[in-house]
Amino acid sequence: MFSFGKKNKSNQTKILTANLQDQKQKFELIVNAIEDGVVLIDADKVILLFNPGAGNISGWDPDEANGLNATAVLKLVDAKNQLYEDSVNPLLAVFERGQNIRDNAALLLTKSGKQIPISLNVSPLWDANKQVTGAVAVFRDVAEERAEEQRRADFISTASHEMRTPVAAIEGYLALALNTKVTTIDNRARDYLEKAHSSTQHLGQLFQDLLTSAKAEDGRLTSHPVVVEMGAFLEQLSNDLKFAAEKKGLFTEFVLGSSKSIDASGGTGGERVVRPLYYVFVDPDRLREVITNLFDNAVKYTPEGKVSLGLTGDPQVVQMYVRDTGPGIPGEDLSHLFQKFYRVDNSATRTIGGTGLGLFICRKIVELYGGRIWVESELEKGSSFFINFPRLTSEQAAAKQTLDAQSTVLKPIDSLAAAGTP
Ligand code: ADP
Repeated sequence: MFSFGKKNKSNQTKILTANLQDQKQKFELIVNAIEDGVVLIDADKVILLFNPGAGNISGWDPDEANGLNATAVLKLVDAKNQLYEDSVNPLLAVFERGQNIRDNAALLLTKSGKQIPISLNVSPLWDANKQVTGAVAVFRDVAEERAEEQRRADFISTASHEMRTPVAAIEGYLALALNTKVTTIDNRARDYLEKAHSSTQHLGQLFQDLLTSAKAEDGRLTSHPVVVEMGAFLEQLSNDLKFAAEKKGLFTEFVLGSSKSIDASGGTGGERVVRPLYYVFVDPDRLREVITNLFDNAVKYTPEGKVSLGLTGDPQVVQMYVRDTGPGIPGEDLSHLFQKFYRVDNSATRTIGGTGLGLFICRKIVELYGGRIWVESELEKGSSFFINFPRLTSEQAAAKQTLDAQSTVLKPIDSLAAAGTP
């Protein structure tokens, strides 16, 4: 039988202790060497570990930070300079939600009061009973990245803005050259000029899309949200949009979800269909851009069949969709479709012109109003693009409308007061 002698046992203990010390040293070496901030918090939100990286970013001495409340040391503010509320502060919310929380929009208030944009990730730690007993926060100073992104967006904005004017002039002159009332040209020249005209139009659209996407990225898109009843809004819009589809020989339809209610007044036990009112709080001009883009895509990529615009919902959500019977989109492309410049590279759609920016802009606009956009598609069957927005109850809609009306009435009075008029 195999057994340890006394001497052997003490040797084992020594090796084990040395191993543990070795492991601790390695752990400390790694945590101290990481440039990112690494902070360990216990269930009472007290800091147990604060690495030098966290110290460099926040301006707190690790010895000083250890033992303090995490939210007192890592103060997070939003873009409007407001301190994070407890319910949305990842350092606290992680204990409620019990899942990883990522925040790329937070600004960290350093010890000296400076604001640093950070990328923050907070992961919960569980005990054997699946209780969250602590959390690890890892954060990085992204000031340099943000400044670089801003420089790139500024360049794109300026370049596309400057280039739009000469392109519009070229397009205008080409249109004049093609106008039979203005010029006389032979058929071959007409053919060349038509091609040049359509390429110039494409270039103009590209510059316009670049400008809009740069604005959407750095939050400069103008937006004036108001209460919109989606049923009436989409019905009107579908009337405006259907001509382009019908010109291509496609059928169109507007499908409005309905809910049934018992007609108490009739007394005949009959049912009457009630048209539900779907209220959302969005900028109607921006929403028109989104739906028009989805509808234009459906028409553009569908050679024959039908394009439907639909509206439905439940008490919390208003859902609209644009559905077509076109070639569909391969599964592997679906998750990339809303990225900048992404275009599907298949034979069904490759030859059709586009910038690959439309859906990216759609996503940015939808997110502006707390919405979500996604696509479901089956090859050779068609595609459906869905948008969900938070739904307002009739009372909420009326309250917002009253507020809106008051602020419009108050504005001139405010400005008179500001001008010193009695
Ligand atoms: P664009 O149409 O200008 O290329 P979008 O961002 O609007 O850019 O669309 C991205 C890509 O998604 C398109 O290039 C096309 O491949 C695919 N796509 C969009 N809508 C549809 C649709 N209804 N049916 C099939 N493919 C589509």
